[in-house]
Amino acid sequence: MNVEDRAPAHVKAIAPYQPGKPISELARECGLDEAAIVKLASNENPLGVNEAALIAMTRALAEVTRYPDGNGFDMKCALSAKFGIERERIVLGNGSNDVLELAARAFLVPQSVALYSQHAFAVYPLVTQAVGARGIEVPAREFGHDLDAILAALTPDTRVVFIANPNNPTGTFLDGSRLERFIAAVPTDVLVVLDEAYTDYVPKSLRYDSIAWLARYPNLVVSRTLAKAYGLAGLRVGFGLGSAQVIDLMNRVRQPFNVNSIAQAGAVAVLDDPAFLERSYEVNLAGMRQLTAGLAKLRLSWIPSFANFVTFKVGPADVVYQRLLAHGVIVRPIASYGMPEYLRVSVGTHPENQRFLDALEGALDGLSDRPAERPA
Ligand SMILES: *Cc1c(COP(=O)(O)O)cnc(C)c1O
Repeated sequence: MNVEDRAPAHVKAIAPYQPGKPISELARECGLDEAAIVKLASNENPLGVNEAALIAMTRALAEVTRYPDGNGFDMKCALSAKFGIERERIVLGNGSNDVLELAARAFLVPQSVALYSQHAFAVYPLVTQAVGARGIEVPAREFGHDLDAILAALTPDTRVVFIANPNNPTGTFLDGSRLERFIAAVPTDVLVVLDEAYTDYVPKSLRYDSIAWLARYPNLVVSRTLAKAYGLAGLRVGFGLGSAQVIDLMNRVRQPFNVNSIAQAGAVAVLDDPAFLERSYEVNLAGMRQLTAGLAKLRLSWIPSFANFVTFKVGPADVVYQRLLAHGVIVRPIASYGMPEYLRVSVGTHPENQRFLDALEGALDGLSDRPAERPA
């Protein structure tokens, strides 16, 4: 018997995460110039790195012989001031994916159940399977979470429910009052992980205050990231907010130095720059209008999105994806999310969005099985 045969069955059963194609990889494969490639595949912020964060990170480089602050004091102070929550109720993550994993490791045991929606974020099944728990995917409704179906799927074995709002890769959004009623209906011994990675892109008229809910629902954890609207995806930094008791448990299974010192320095700086967040929001709003107007012109349908990407229907998505790559444009196929006829494109800068739309028009040329045309 080989050592790999000894790996637990639940580990062998994990389907690896499929990330967006890196620019350097496409450049290598197709002999393209990296500067000529447009990547709109991983919902990254097109604004470039925040100036204050860059200065803070450069300064922090000189201190890398030291371990980072394992308690993240400065970053927790910044979060505490910004969100009005005590430091004991904050857990820091190496990206918010880390926060999702901490929730799984602190609350799931083998054979217990985590619930999540069909077409929801791929990391929920990953972190569930990694601890040997059972993930149950609840059928979606119009590509979004069906909260009533999720409530109906709860059993005494359910320990965690993952909800993404807005959801990735569909961009769907749950109204705040509906969502709060859902949380109130979940038994108090089931952890609700509310993943709000895209919350800063939600139109202002639709925003709700999930942080205020934490006082009412001690079984709620809100997770946020600095990877999207704050523009620090490569740095890997996110955070979770919850009751002091839940956060304490998550901290026990956390690696002591999970957030590196440069990430902490960059995070503190960008958290102190609300103007950057506002610009991220505005640029995204304009880019979303540009992209959806372009898709409409090409007579394609899309799922209305409340995040920084939009998922559209093309029929033979893999052919279109490959043709876009040949034009130097990287988007995201989402067949692994059960959506083989769709592609997801992140909102870029105005010129990037235009490059994508032009390339898409070319890629659709002569396709025999385009989806039915949109009704006017
Ligand atoms: C991008 C994303 C995250 C954030 O991941 P990080 O680890 O913080 O980069 C979390 N949840 C969803 C649904 C996402 O799409």
